[in-house]
Amino acid sequence: MAQITPLIAGNWKMNGTTVQLGEVERLAELVTEGDGPRCTVVICPPATMLERLNTITASAGIVTGGQDCHPAAHGPHTGDISAQMLSDCGAQYVIVGHSERRLGHGETDHLVQQKALAAFASGLVPIICVGESEDERESGSAEKVVLGQLAEALPDNWGPFGFIVAYEPVWAIGTGKTPTMHDIEDMHATIRKYLVEHYGENGEGTRILYGGSMKPYNARDILRLKNVNGGLVGGASLLANDFYNIISAV
Ligand code: PEP
Repeated sequence: MAQITPLIAGNWKMNGTTVQLGEVERLAELVTEGDGPRCTVVICPPATMLERLNTITASAGIVTGGQDCHPAAHGPHTGDISAQMLSDCGAQYVIVGHSERRLGHGETDHLVQQKALAAFASGLVPIICVGESEDERESGSAEKVVLGQLAEALPDNWGPFGFIVAYEPVWAIGTGKTPTMHDIEDMHATIRKYLVEHYGENGEGTRILYGGSMKPYNARDILRLKNVNGGLVGGASLLANDFYNIISAV
């Protein structure tokens, strides 16, 4: 059984201006005060804040990531940002295929795969999001939907530094609702099986994060489930104390 270091990633979404740096300073203090976290800690702020965050977080061992990237390295794509640019700002990870990108920007699994490959090419680790809608969960097709997304969105190879899968049921994001512990464990087992079948030993060691209303009060229960190797945290990552409590739950 592969030993996997858990990872907790904060997704700030379109939140964060200079004033938010105070929370980051507080988080860096909290993280360095104790024995240090038992997991890798990543913050994915808006790209405008990446460099400033890195100067605060580096000494606390907290690393940063982007929230999205364009599949191309550069070119005529007004308003977009490339993996190369994120890397140039010190990012080590990038979220791709978040449901807010899939729904709000019509992103397909194929595009998500292209973005993951762009991340590989720039030395970033892609955090590839999958997850079913509420209707799909209720109609009993959640597993089929997620397996379809894995088949289309994951790269054929594990990549130079690997990739991470984040299982995020769309209906649990930002709603305060979560699947039952049993449903989370079942879906993570399905994803693990897929990863092992397709990537062998690398699939055994691939992190599978849970995302969707992970909060200080439920993090411990979720993070102790089999095949849950960390979390992708939205709202609760904006407040240093909440995010630290989730980190400490590992
Ligand atoms: C997310 O944005 O990926 C997320 C999981 O958000 P929240 O924790 O707020 O549900």
